[in-house]
Amino acid sequence: MDSADRPNGPQSEYATDRRSHLLNGSTVEHYLRSMTQCIERLASRFADVDRPFSGISAPQLDAAISGIDLQRPVADTAAALDELGHIYLRDAVYFHHPRYLGHLNCPVVIPAVLGEAFLSSINSSLDTWDQSAGGTLIERRLIQWTAAHLDLGDAADGVFTSGGTQSNLQALLIARDETCAGLARTVLTSRKSELLPRLRILTSEVSHFSIATSAALLGLGREAVISVPTDQDKRLRTDDLVREVDRCRQDGLVPMAVVATAGTTDFGSIDPLHQIADICAQEGIWMHVDAAYGCGLLVSRRRDLLDGIGRADSVTVDFHKSFFQPVSSSAVLVRDRSMLAHVTYHANYLNPAGGSDTHAPNQVDKSLQTTRRFDALKLWLTLRIMGPDMVGALFDDVVDLAAATWRLMADDPRFEVVTQPQLSTLVFRYVPPDGSHPDLVDEVNLYVRQALLSSGEAVVAATTVDGAHYLKFTLLNPQTSLDDIADVLGLIAGHAEEFLSDTDDRGKTRVEAS
Ligand SMILES: *Cc1c(COP(=O)(O)O)cnc(C)c1O
Repeated sequence: MDSADRPNGPQSEYATDRRSHLLNGSTVEHYLRSMTQCIERLASRFADVDRPFSGISAPQLDAAISGIDLQRPVADTAAALDELGHIYLRDAVYFHHPRYLGHLNCPVVIPAVLGEAFLSSINSSLDTWDQSAGGTLIERRLIQWTAAHLDLGDAADGVFTSGGTQSNLQALLIARDETCAGLARTVLTSRKSELLPRLRILTSEVSHFSIATSAALLGLGREAVISVPTDQDKRLRTDDLVREVDRCRQDGLVPMAVVATAGTTDFGSIDPLHQIADICAQEGIWMHVDAAYGCGLLVSRRRDLLDGIGRADSVTVDFHKSFFQPVSSSAVLVRDRSMLAHVTYHANYLNPAGGSDTHAPNQVDKSLQTTRRFDALKLWLTLRIMGPDMVGALFDDVVDLAAATWRLMADDPRFEVVTQPQLSTLVFRYVPPDGSHPDLVDEVNLYVRQALLSSGEAVVAATTVDGAHYLKFTLLNPQTSLDDIADVLGLIAGHAEEFLSDTDDRGKTRVEAS
């Protein structure tokens, strides 16, 4: 059968020539045309987006995606892109929309998107010098740049990772092995199986769940994480930290690390870094700072909020949160570069110990990953095109917006806000201003979130505080205005009032029927 006769079969000039799909010097025309088609469609979609989400349900979308026969390619690139328009673009969740106020996702800056196109076209892998060349050196420069902004000192080093979860895991792995190495010198056993059960990680009750996941992955068990209470601003209480450290010592346990958070996921609260550093220094405990969210402050006019971060032994930063970078782009840094040896392994085929290229800058020596994306390029182009101050000013915009939102809500009897924001999140709930329905406050807030999502008018997040249900705004979009916020508050109140009046009607119907 001729390919042109095949139903739904490959028909285009490219589809029949398998090598024409490989990106190389002889396919540049195909490359140019494909990339142009892609960008044109994205551009027209961006111009059309009028709400953060279409509100489609998972089963509806699943039907469309499951219905596609992956054994049969479509006619050509344009057809595949058309199809993608239907199953993905039309119903995507758009973080750049001013009424997307959900999670810690940011709109992305164009220079970083350029970087993304470069890095996947060239496809450098940053594990070894012989697979990356300049990519390795660019990543190293950015690690040094970040370390300098963190004030970590001249011996600092680090590596890019896939995200804050991986950065936290690597930092805690290093803390674990460094603590065990120290213990082995002072106690009778150096057997890890005997040491691990005694290790404890201290962190606030509102720190990120990846701390507990890391403890589990590191063979310590989730129980190894001691949850330290926070003050009314959701910052770790250092008096309780001291008490927990003492208790560990009395129980024969070993505090292996204190994890301070610089920007908690829910509240944006920043733990008292200097005080924690003092305690860690005095007690000889590894100090890790999880600045996955708060790292944007490094380039903002509010840099002083991170004072003390330079005293940490290790730091997590997520450029894909507050530096407006596409996922993924994160890094873990350590104050003492020799600590990275805890993740160094040698493979004869890659980075042989004592081999001829022992001195080659092989980033795999510092990483938990092997093959690794050149994510650093996105930040590089961002800094070269925009400069750090402009990125920081974008983050300042959303922090300013959060402060203005707080003032707006503090005067509004319909809403209760948990804490005054230090960064750009607000955890709050709707409460009937007339004091009615106190037993329905949880339900009404749960309902509102779902109602907003399925209307697609706005996307907000949900969380719990002391077991009660709350809503959350995460403001990472400098395009969101206070008017947008006021509109969303209006939508929230509207859905809430509707829910309560429906409940009243149902109650009345029940009473009449009985
Ligand atoms: C988002 C976040 C993480 C996890 O980072 P990922 O990039 O999502 O893996 C860790 N800690 C904090 C405080 C976060 O906000």
